[in-house]
Amino acid sequence: MTACIIDGKAIAAELRIKIALEVRRLAAEHRLVPGLAVILIGDNPASEIYVRNKARATRDAGMQSSVHRLSGATTQRDLLALISDLNSNAAVHGILVQLPLPPHIDAQAVIEAIEPAKDVDGFHPLNAGRLAIGLPGLVPCTPLGCIMLAKTIHPSLAGRDALVIGRSNIVGKPLAQLLLRENATVTIAHSKTKDLPAVSRRADLVFAAVGQAHMVRGAWIKPGATVIDVGINRVPGAGGKPRLAGDVAYSEAREVAGAITPVPGGVGPMTIACLLANTVRAACTIIGVSTTL
Ligand code: NAD
Repeated sequence: MTACIIDGKAIAAELRIKIALEVRRLAAEHRLVPGLAVILIGDNPASEIYVRNKARATRDAGMQSSVHRLSGATTQRDLLALISDLNSNAAVHGILVQLPLPPHIDAQAVIEAIEPAKDVDGFHPLNAGRLAIGLPGLVPCTPLGCIMLAKTIHPSLAGRDALVIGRSNIVGKPLAQLLLRENATVTIAHSKTKDLPAVSRRADLVFAAVGQAHMVRGAWIKPGATVIDVGINRVPGAGGKPRLAGDVAYSEAREVAGAITPVPGGVGPMTIACLLANTVRAACTIIGVSTTL
């Protein structure tokens, strides 16, 4: 069997068109232009690319984008002061602090300083808690994108055995919560899980969010299962030039799986599209209007 390739780029492009249309409607009907502020600290080249892409996508959707570039020596106090300004700026509906932060800054304190209504990354404990107890709130973008991709194959996830490999606060845990909300039967695996290949072979859906290139082998996949690869790893490519690889051994897994996401071109583009959708949702909630998203 050769798997159906889940084209995250095309699915994200469709979602971005829907978002741009909604942004146009909000401007016409409510004079609302959703605004996203992104804060970048230091000069991590990967973060610089992510921030540039997020800002461009925000503008392309017709929204207001501002990027605050701070030196790597910025103090936590100055960063918190900027967040406080953005919290009270009525033109800003979404605030995102690009991670990772320099080691002298307490990332949790920064996440908790963001006004929960503007927390478009969905990392604030209030939003994490709301997700856990089934209340509406802002949900992390990458897990949201994973669910949307999985639902292109299985419109209902109810009763399916879903395995999430990885238990981080930004991917694994919120993804497991979303799968529960979809009535899947959820297993969360992590670095201490025993016999992960056997656990994986029982799953109808495997979500790999580990950060280890090619860790999930073809032999770990149940024939016909759906594989969503969240991993973004830089590995040596042709001529020693780095290339991106997922957490799944793609060429092996696609011979066994029923459907699989590629890296790049799978989950990554969905993350940005979901960030735009979250910014629109945040703006609508803040001014008290409903949205089609
Ligand atoms: P993380 O390092 O915070 O968490 C990794 C998790 O994997 C941990 O919970 C750990 O217990 C688990 N793990 C580690 N080794 C394991 C093993 N041998 N077996 C089973 N589990 C193991 O990473 P993260 O922030 O959750 O990111 C995971 C991956 O997803 C990374 O490659 C990251 O770059 C990628 N990512 C992609 C996007 C996207 O937009 N596509 C967004 C966020 C993260």
